[in-house]
Amino acid sequence: MFFAVITLFPEMFEAITAYGISGRAAKLDMVQVTCINPRDFAQGNYKRVDERPFGGGPGMVMMAEPLAQAIDHAKQLASQAGCVHVPVVYMSPQGQTLNEPAVQQFIEYDGLIILCGRYEGVDERLIQRYIDQEWSIGDYVLSGGELPAMVLLDSIIRRLPDVMSDEQSHIQDSFVDGLLDCPQYTKPDHFEGLDVPEVLKSGHHANIEKWRFLQRYQRTLERRPELVEQVILTRQQKKWLNDLDES
Ligand code: SAM
Repeated sequence: MFFAVITLFPEMFEAITAYGISGRAAKLDMVQVTCINPRDFAQGNYKRVDERPFGGGPGMVMMAEPLAQAIDHAKQLASQAGCVHVPVVYMSPQGQTLNEPAVQQFIEYDGLIILCGRYEGVDERLIQRYIDQEWSIGDYVLSGGELPAMVLLDSIIRRLPDVMSDEQSHIQDSFVDGLLDCPQYTKPDHFEGLDVPEVLKSGHHANIEKWRFLQRYQRTLERRPELVEQVILTRQQKKWLNDLDES
């Protein structure tokens, strides 16, 4: 998948391209993450990318022209890479809140061009002309769009086919089928007076699967009851819940 990130701080994206699952995907060319600095498209000796807001008030606003040229350049790169469906996304606290269904939709695209704002944000006319979608990572304000862009990148990259070494490992992740994940345990058997549930050491796969589902269901009911209402249960899962009610 192709990603072009428009950012004043390209070095920050080493966190994505050099480490962990996303780093491995980048090194194996499963994803291409290119950073484009709008300053490279700015005019004048000072290469200004920001100006004072019309109407006064605090802070600076990112200027439309360098951003527009940076986005056009990103579109050219995407097209040279053979990518057709490549929406331009602006990370913004005013956008839709990112969630699992949105991440699943992003995976369907050939690529993404992601604009990271700074200062008080970007000139509204740039948004009107160049931005297809605005996405937020939550109802709070950060100093820039780089961390939100990295959140978006990581959430997509780890879901791409072949990226995870264990293909199935995301299936049980929280939100993937609408439930939260189950509790996880590893060695040692005993830790500060707490033991690993016996069923997990039994080697009985059917019992383990049932235990994990019931834990996930119970945990979701306790922590995020609104999610349970949306979940589509399999026949087997319904039977496990019925058995529980009758016991
Ligand atoms: N004045 C803007 C507002 O209140 O909507 C906030 C500007 S913020 C200081 C600078 C940049 O950080 C934004 O342009 C955006 O790219 C990014 N940003 C901040 N919080 C964000 C969030 N919750 N989700 C996505 N991007 C965010």
